[in-house]
Amino acid sequence: MKHADIAMYQAKERGKNQVHYFTEELNQKILQHVTLEQDLRSGIKNKEFELYYQPKVKVETGEISGCECLIRWHHPTRGLIPPNQFIPLAENSGLIVQLGEWVLEEAIQQQLFWKKMYGIDLPISVNVSAHQFAHENFYTRLQQIFKDFEFEPNKLDIEVTESVLLDDSNHNLSILKMIRSLGVTTSLDDFGTGYSSLAYLKRFPINVLKIDKSFMDDYLSRTGSVFIQTIITMAHNLNIEIVAEGIEQQDQLNYLKSVDCEFYQGYFCSKPLPAKNFIELVQDSLNK
Ligand code: C2E
Ligand code: CA
Ligand code: CA
Ligand code: CA
Repeated sequence: MKHADIAMYQAKERGKNQVHYFTEELNQKILQHVTLEQDLRSGIKNKEFELYYQPKVKVETGEISGCECLIRWHHPTRGLIPPNQFIPLAENSGLIVQLGEWVLEEAIQQQLFWKKMYGIDLPISVNVSAHQFAHENFYTRLQQIFKDFEFEPNKLDIEVTESVLLDDSNHNLSILKMIRSLGVTTSLDDFGTGYSSLAYLKRFPINVLKIDKSFMDDYLSRTGSVFIQTIITMAHNLNIEIVAEGIEQQDQLNYLKSVDCEFYQGYFCSKPLPAKNFIELVQDSLNK
């Protein structure tokens, strides 16, 4: 939190003439927030982060066709912190730009390592937050990273949420087109939360639509199923592939087969895993 924000909080508190202990509690909260931001800053410097990898699976065959890279934070005193607890802070403080660059470089090096060591040349999906995507250096940095690591852009998929399509969409639209012309593919993440307008698909160059877990959980209800099927049909007509997120049960997988959904992710196949465990899973699945 910025100092100005803190001052505003405190001013608001004084103005409201709240009882003393409430102000104390608020100060406590602000302090935690500030501390976590400082920790985040030093965490980036000290490389306290790790990527976990979750398989992206072909519905029809069970084959692992790629993976999503998901960040974890090994905090020196608090232990393992999941992304939902620090990504929003990283976004608000602008630290997401640095952190996001680390994620890209780490994921790309991991992909190259798997290729070199195991001959496994899997596409990787990386989450890019709206703030990072809209940053003026994003495209240049991406190009530089490809060059530095001699990485084939067509092995990278970038996952964005619809906020990227909402904010200043002309800038973001041209960046999307530019990264697509490098050979990078794009996924629209969390579809089914927020506005989820199918109209985006007409305007923005998207290769893959990821249907959110909350939508997939509702497949048994009549409306839920109608929505899922309509999205799939529409996407297919636009040459867009579908990934169903958060698949945990065999029943859900059977359903995906019946509606011609081509990919899924979810605990049914595997939770996100550290790199070493992930590549073991891939090798096991190849030997089956
Ligand atoms: P997301 O991109 O929607 O990622 C999917 C989340 O669902 C992951 O949570 C994953 O572990 C979880 N998940 C996968 N399959 C299942 C399932 O079958 N059941 C359930 N209950 N959950 C499942 P995770 O790893 O905690 O990440 C949460 C969010 O944090 C991500 O949501 C993404 O928005 C953000 N995030 C993670 N890594 C990064 C990153 O490197 N950069 C940015 N900008 N955001 C990230
Ligand atoms: Ca994602
Ligand atoms: Ca998602
Ligand atoms: Ca999500």
